[in-house]
Amino acid sequence: MSVLVVGSIGLDTVKTPIEEHADLLGGSASYAAVAASFFTGVNLVGIVGDDFPKTHIGYFESRQIDLAGMQIVPGKTFRWSGEYHWDMNTRTTRSTELNVFEHFTPTLPSNYGETPFVLLANIAPALQSHVLDQMQKPKFIIADTMNLWIEIAKNDLLALLKRVDMLILNDGEARELTGETSLIKAGRCIRDLGPTYVAIKKGEHGCLLFGEDNFFSCAAYPLEDIHDPTGAGDTFAGGLAGYLASHSDGEITFQKLRKAVVYGSVLASFNVEAFSLERMRTLTIRDIEERYQMFKLMSHFEVLE
Ligand code: AMP
Repeated sequence: MSVLVVGSIGLDTVKTPIEEHADLLGGSASYAAVAASFFTGVNLVGIVGDDFPKTHIGYFESRQIDLAGMQIVPGKTFRWSGEYHWDMNTRTTRSTELNVFEHFTPTLPSNYGETPFVLLANIAPALQSHVLDQMQKPKFIIADTMNLWIEIAKNDLLALLKRVDMLILNDGEARELTGETSLIKAGRCIRDLGPTYVAIKKGEHGCLLFGEDNFFSCAAYPLEDIHDPTGAGDTFAGGLAGYLASHSDGEITFQKLRKAVVYGSVLASFNVEAFSLERMRTLTIRDIEERYQMFKLMSHFEVLE
């Protein structure tokens, strides 16, 4: 079964303590769509300007990503720039230029309405809801968000939460959304706001998954060299959604979600090994399976079998 991914598609300039690279392929939907494409078919919904390099479009096509929902309009593509601190975990946003993204209204091609899995990657929650308005009856809806929307569009976000099956957010955002310092309390509190499942990402410390009566703590794959953490969260969400969609027979169970969280973490661990989506270009499903097995040995999560 395929996944519909909606979110930002942009050009990023990223500075780490070691290197700086400009005008890289980025955006929440770019990372999520490419990650999901390792497991299943992807329908990408987003907007770019007429300055968006054709090579990036060619790359999406090479991943068999359906681009009928990607609008190319006159004007400049969304641009974002960030600078990482020494810990490579925290960063400062240097600039955000919305450009064509400012007036984006996601309009789905009619055949996208029946896509069974939906990943609402990071964009304004009102736009995420607008996408759901155009969907028939998806089997599973996942939403990602960021601190900006908790601060400037909280009511829209709360309305969205009543319509999604799963919310993915990072630890700081979970605390900000709920006012709880304990992540366990924050996870439960977010479940009370609507989603059956909540995944709280903790950067290099892994991820917590909350279900109705279940809880799973997944470590992060230990890496010696991290070159660019940008898009790790989006890659995690895309890998998770893609894995779920490719194992969609029957119910979506907590057991399946636990495995999906591990696959999402594996995809994210590859992504941070190079800038932008560069590592994804050479990645194979065999590399993913090998790292999954290694991760399993390291984490002793054989109970997942
Ligand atoms: P992450 O590292 O998972 O937070 O995602 C980074 C990606 O999010 C970058 O590639 C940016 O282009 C994109 N991004 C940054 N700010 C925004 C925003 N306000 N709305 C949508 N996407 C954004």
